Amino acid sequence: MSVAARPLFAFDNTFVRELPGLYVPWQGAEVEQPALVVVNGPLATELGLDLERLQTPEGVAALAGSVAPDGAEPVAQAYAGHQFGGYSPRLGDGRALLLGEVLDARGMRQDIHLKGSGKTPFARGGDGKAAIGPMLREFAISEAVHALGIPTARALAVVATNEAVRRETLLPGAVLTRVAESHLRVGTFEYAAATGDVELLRRLADYAIARHYPEAAHAADPYLDFYARVVAAQAELVAQWMLVGFVHGVMNTDNVAISGQTIDYGPCAFMDRYDPQTVFSSIDTGGRYAYGNQPTVAQWNLARLGDALVPLVGGDQQAAAAALTEVLRGFAVRYRESFTAGMAAKLGLPAAADGADDLVGELLVLLEAERPDFTSFFRALAASLRGDSAHVHELIPDTARFETWATAWHATLAESGVAPADAASAMDRVNPLYIPRNHLVEAALTAATSGDLGPFREMLAALEDPYRERPGFEAWAAPAPEDAGPYRTFCGT
Ligand code: AMP
Ligand code: MG
Repeated sequence: MSVAARPLFAFDNTFVRELPGLYVPWQGAEVEQPALVVVNGPLATELGLDLERLQTPEGVAALAGSVAPDGAEPVAQAYAGHQFGGYSPRLGDGRALLLGEVLDARGMRQDIHLKGSGKTPFARGGDGKAAIGPMLREFAISEAVHALGIPTARALAVVATNEAVRRETLLPGAVLTRVAESHLRVGTFEYAAATGDVELLRRLADYAIARHYPEAAHAADPYLDFYARVVAAQAELVAQWMLVGFVHGVMNTDNVAISGQTIDYGPCAFMDRYDPQTVFSSIDTGGRYAYGNQPTVAQWNLARLGDALVPLVGGDQQAAAAALTEVLRGFAVRYRESFTAGMAAKLGLPAAADGADDLVGELLVLLEAERPDFTSFFRALAASLRGDSAHVHELIPDTARFETWATAWHATLAESGVAPADAASAMDRVNPLYIPRNHLVEAALTAATSGDLGPFREMLAALEDPYRERPGFEAWAAPAPEDAGPYRTFCGT
């Protein structure tokens, strides 16, 4: 077979084959002059793609959504969702398409998905388009979250459309190609349940089990076991967000992936100073999705998944609902364990260290009172174990208060048999030095929108290796300047 005859993507589209009723076949909008802005070489390799060919006009047209590549069966996926607590029965991909699925180098099935590829039947009032700033933002932040070791959808490419998109002003348009273990959402289950077609709901659940939680198929009640696994995956995910100060910003049920990956990067951002009330999204006026609310909201979202699964779970409706509710109780336990273990690691302690719970609890009280820059605080703590306490004292000016806590911390380390130098090294492996600093992200996107990709590329370089100190990236480790003002993010729709 000649190289040209080989398809760009080796698609094998199980979602389209197995779940009619949950999508509409659709084509991307015509883009006359697509131009590649950024492509993720390492991810392309993981996906078994030909990176050079992706950058040819044929590849770029595919990434723009203009021309469906061989084997693609583009569809707009249907889903419902609770948005800010209110139910919308029909959301769906208004400006996105699932092109198809490929198996990556590890044999893991991955969705190849376009965002900004034009209006679909789910577009409601929207124009189906995306502006380049928000697409580059999703590219950079999702790759940063991946580099932090947190489950997430990833970004393969951003293509400029060379068309203007009308927002508050006219902005350059773009299409993002994202890659995820699937785009099955809590909202997909809500949609299937609302059709009243229990067989459709069952097909969806069986599909999700086979794709994400195959062990559940062997359980006494596979659907209940599936639910327990989704609950556990979300508890783990949100704990990891909390440990790095990530604020998703729009935790509607349509933005919660069944796989346990982070998806739908909109108004997300990383917390600067520690404050559980931290909200960045301009539309989250009630603070529903504030940093400190994320575990509670995740649990609420999972309750909506439980509601959708009632018809599948054994026993009558009441018994099924009770069994699902019982499983959901496991969320708080799993979250707490995962968060506490993660915080212990951030302090250089084994998860099971005696007193770790109390130490973490007291630290959170201290952080809430003193509000240091959350990210640099933990690196400063490690430095203090190496004898350099200047930075931690700068971050926590109430030295006496800090020392009271630190004395207990040092004692716990000693009781756990961890030498200070070893604790410091272990801490630096789990506490990021570089995070997407809001003021720098904004500056990089502003420059990129006007054609200068230099700062954007520097941002990618800083964030791809967040734990290892490297010269030239100091700004990414530093808190926002005092005069930066409160940071606001927009959904970019
Ligand atoms: P999001 O807030 O990005 O999760 O999107 C919520 C819903 O709005 C989804 O159904 C999206 O497909 C849809 N949507 C967002 N922006 C647009 C747009 N510009 N055109 C059409 N649909 C959109
Ligand atoms: Mg969404």
